[in-house]
Amino acid sequence: MAKHLPPLLSGSQPPETAQTLLALLHAQGEVARLSERDQLYSSLLDSVNAVLWAFDWETRQVLYVSPAYERIFGRPASLVLADYNEWRDSIYPDDLDFAERSLAQVLLKGAVEDREYRILNASGQVRWLSDKCYINQQSEGERVIVVGIAEDITEKKQLEGELQRLATTDVLTQSSNRRHFFECARQAFDHAREDGTPLAFLLLDIDDFKRINDSYGHQEGDQVLQRIADSGKAVLRRGDQFGRIGGEEFAAIFPGCNAQAAELIAERLQREVQRLSFSHGEQTYSVTVSQGLTALTDQDTSLDDLFARADAAMYRAKRQGKNQIVHG
Ligand code: GH3
Ligand code: MG
Ligand code: MG
Repeated sequence: MAKHLPPLLSGSQPPETAQTLLALLHAQGEVARLSERDQLYSSLLDSVNAVLWAFDWETRQVLYVSPAYERIFGRPASLVLADYNEWRDSIYPDDLDFAERSLAQVLLKGAVEDREYRILNASGQVRWLSDKCYINQQSEGERVIVVGIAEDITEKKQLEGELQRLATTDVLTQSSNRRHFFECARQAFDHAREDGTPLAFLLLDIDDFKRINDSYGHQEGDQVLQRIADSGKAVLRRGDQFGRIGGEEFAAIFPGCNAQAAELIAERLQREVQRLSFSHGEQTYSVTVSQGLTALTDQDTSLDDLFARADAAMYRAKRQGKNQIVHG
């Protein structure tokens, strides 16, 4: 059959037909190249974990979202293209105000790169976005198009949180470590001085802790440390800071607390610790602590003043027979 068909291009055809066919072939090549390029763009856009978007400022219409939108937000792109509120409503309520205000700043600044906020995706999961935006206005009077890139930084945020936790927490007792405790305590001291509010400071040292280690082993000693730290955390109020500042030494800072109020907390902690019962094999035993307590005075110029008084009070408690609270 094929041999009866005339060749596509031959000298026997009128020249217009040959030209039309050439043009057609050329166009087909162009189309193939374009679609190749489209595919390349599309796969590039798809591989980044960020939504590229374009927004018409006046009409408040989303003009474009890249394929990552559906993956990150878990919602169909068609809905956000039909109604900008789809995006707005996904923003975590506490962050909505910031997200809106920082977007509006793009009109003044031309670019806003430090926008981070949370969204709730369709499954109710919180995702963190770094959503940079830029003005894309060619000339004065032209309609204002804002373009942006919203990158999913949830994993980065989680990692940062975990690093922050590791840097500030004592691994054994999960309370604040020495450095973090004193950082918070110094801030609390500065606030109390500025605002003229009360502040109390407490040092706690486990009595005869070496004997526990010597009698039952280091691991048993570790468990005692953990349970005493748990008691400390249990009696604290919101806003108080509790930390492990040495081997078997803990400290607490109570913002807004005068000496009497802090005394009540220290007494509760003393009772909590006395109530703890430990067992090692057949043996059961209990533990006591000595506490040194002090409150901010007008003469105190730095946290070290409070620390020194609490330390002296704690050692007085030791000398006076341990298992007691002494004021300094
Ligand atoms: P005092 O009543 O005067 O406070 O005596 P103490 O035995 O409690 O105090 P001392 O300073 O003599 O001993 C503290 C011990 O705490 C010595 C050290 O081996 C132990 N220690 C320090 N850090 C840890 C720890 O992380 N785990 C355990 N199990 N023991 C620790
Ligand atoms: Mg000690
Ligand atoms: Mg001790």
